[in-house]
Amino acid sequence: MTGSAKTAGTVTNWARTITYRAREFHRPDTIDALAALVAGSARVRALGSGHSFNRIADPGTDGMLLSTAGLPPVIEVDTTARTVRVSGGVRYAELARTVHARGLALPNMASLPHISVAGSVATGTHGSGVGNGSLASSVREVELLLADGSTVTIGREDPRFDGAVTSLGALGVVTALTLALEPAYEVEQHVFAELPLEGLDFAGVAAAGYSVSLFTDWRAPGFRHVWVKRRTDRPAVDFPWAAPATGPVHPVPDMPATYCTEQLGVPGPWHERLPHFRAEFTPSAGEEIQSEYLLPRSTAVDALHAVDGIRPAVAGVLQICEVRTVAADSQWLSMAHGRDSVALHFTWVRDEAAVLPVVRRLEKALDPFDPRPHWGKVYEIPPAVVRGRYARLGDFRALARTLDPAGKFTNDFVRDLLDG
Ligand SMILES: Cc1cc2nc3c(=O)[nH]c(=O)nc-3n(C[C@H](O)[C@H](O)[C@H](O)COP(=O)(O)OP(=O)(O)OC[C@H]3O[C@@H](n4cnc5c(N)ncnc54)[C@H](O)[C@@H]3O)c2cc1C
Repeated sequence: MTGSAKTAGTVTNWARTITYRAREFHRPDTIDALAALVAGSARVRALGSGHSFNRIADPGTDGMLLSTAGLPPVIEVDTTARTVRVSGGVRYAELARTVHARGLALPNMASLPHISVAGSVATGTHGSGVGNGSLASSVREVELLLADGSTVTIGREDPRFDGAVTSLGALGVVTALTLALEPAYEVEQHVFAELPLEGLDFAGVAAAGYSVSLFTDWRAPGFRHVWVKRRTDRPAVDFPWAAPATGPVHPVPDMPATYCTEQLGVPGPWHERLPHFRAEFTPSAGEEIQSEYLLPRSTAVDALHAVDGIRPAVAGVLQICEVRTVAADSQWLSMAHGRDSVALHFTWVRDEAAVLPVVRRLEKALDPFDPRPHWGKVYEIPPAVVRGRYARLGDFRALARTLDPAGKFTNDFVRDLLDG
């Protein structure tokens, strides 16, 4: 059963800002069916939960889009090794519930848990925390279905590993990943209000908890809220820079906090506090466009002042800006490759014509800080410039050519990046 759930041309991303230009769309329900579809097609892209905002998943008009959502969900927890083997299409919410039930935990999560594991690590998705790498940094082994329908497993000891995790879907279909776990822990969320930009001690604020997010709508200088997620097995929160919020808040001003994870310092399981949004609230689509840039963390204050310099333009099309931190890693296409990073995220209104000129202005303002755009979000930086910001991109290109010599998993996005 390959189950063509929709005709090509009607499948969109989560935000409905991209209609994939695929010739065919399939939602296979077995790995054998997936392998047969891959082997029988000249051009293929995998689709996870479709939460990306650009054409990274789009196979193009001559290609096949293969959803992983119908594949049998596999979540095999090894409590002795403290690992989990998870099939690529499983979403973090389900994975987190299962490993928590076995007394184990992931080190971090993104802002919402509804995104697929393989799609997230393919684009370098991250949460926050000065000591926390991207979600891909938990990966210990990748199982890839290659162009001819065969499979390969690439573990950490393999010299290809650092290219095989944050891989933009360009090497094959990730059928499963093995992730490192740790003992389950509890987290409290403390929210502080009105943190000024002037005199900001960014290093201190970012390190005030296990995971820290600063939110601003840029309608005024400074931050409306700072969310500090504290592990209860770590020191108490000491936050001298702003006063505690008086009630629960939503990251976007004036939105109800109902769908947000519990705040006000109430401790709870890690997977019910690290994402900002509750797993049981599943938005089918969002009225938004997102952009995000990772810069060297040491430039955070200067970069924030650069954004402040174009504040009216940014505020005019912005819902919310979130500032997080990501620890450096060694993955070739990781946005945090080789540098401890600050991540400046922008949730825009869903009006591409109004947003894109502001994105370009923002990128010009951030250019001195060498920004690496999030692979799954909207950006306008030319591919040749992005390419220059990844020292190991040539190694990734060589790996892609070895694993996928005919370029079956290539699309316009990947071709522009790798070949210009
Ligand atoms: C509301 C919202 C909140 C978000 N929050 C965050 C956040 O907190 N932090 C952050 O960093 N990002 C965040 N993102 C971005 C999001 O995490 C990424 O876009 C991520 O790629 C989404 O995963 P997905 O499965 O939906 O990917 P998709 O959009 O389905 O695919 C993304 C890429 O992964 C590839 N891919 C998917 N599955 C496979 C597979 N099995 N094998 C090989 N390649 C595959 C696709 O081909 C494509 O290239 C958010 C997005 C939204 C909409």
